[in-house]
Amino acid sequence: MCLRKFISGILDSKFHVCAAKVYKKRVNKIRGNLVQNFFIESSCHCGALKLQIDAELPPTLTSCNCSVCRRYGCLFAYYPPEKVKILAAPDTLQEYVWGDKSLAFVRCSHCGCFSHWRSLDPHQTDRMGVNARLFINVEIDKIRIRHFDGANSWKYLD
Ligand SMILES: [Zn+2]
Repeated sequence: MCLRKFISGILDSKFHVCAAKVYKKRVNKIRGNLVQNFFIESSCHCGALKLQIDAELPPTLTSCNCSVCRRYGCLFAYYPPEKVKILAAPDTLQEYVWGDKSLAFVRCSHCGCFSHWRSLDPHQTDRMGVNARLFINVEIDKIRIRHFDGANSWKYLD
C-alpha cells in the first residue's frame, strides 16, 4: 500500500486523526534523514560551487600541515572522483597548481573558498581530497581529526 493511501485511510477514520498526524510527522522525519544520508553536500560561501558526494562520511578527517593546506585551514575527506559531483558554472572554478604539479587546488572564483583538490597525476586518479569545512548538512565536529605531516615525513602523526 502506498503511503498516501495509507495516511488518507487513517484520516478517513474519525477516531485516528491524531495518530495520522503523529505518523505523518514521523514519516517526514524519516524522509528528511534519508535525504540527508543520501548525499553529503558541500557549498562555498556564495553558493556558486557545490559538491554532491554519493558516499558515507569518512571515519576520520585529515588536517595536513603542508605549506598550502595549513594556509587554507582545510580538513580533508577523501573520495573516488566518480562519487563526487561538481555543480558549478565553468567560470566558477579556479585552480591553483604548484610544485610538482601533481594536484590542482580548486576554489570558487567569487568567494574564494577552497573546495577540493583533484589529481593531475595520470597514475593516481582513484581519489580526490574534499574540504569537509564546506559540508553543509553534516556535523563534522564529531569526526576524529588525524594530523598528516605533509610538510616533512608524509606520514600521519597520530
Ligand atoms: Zn563561492
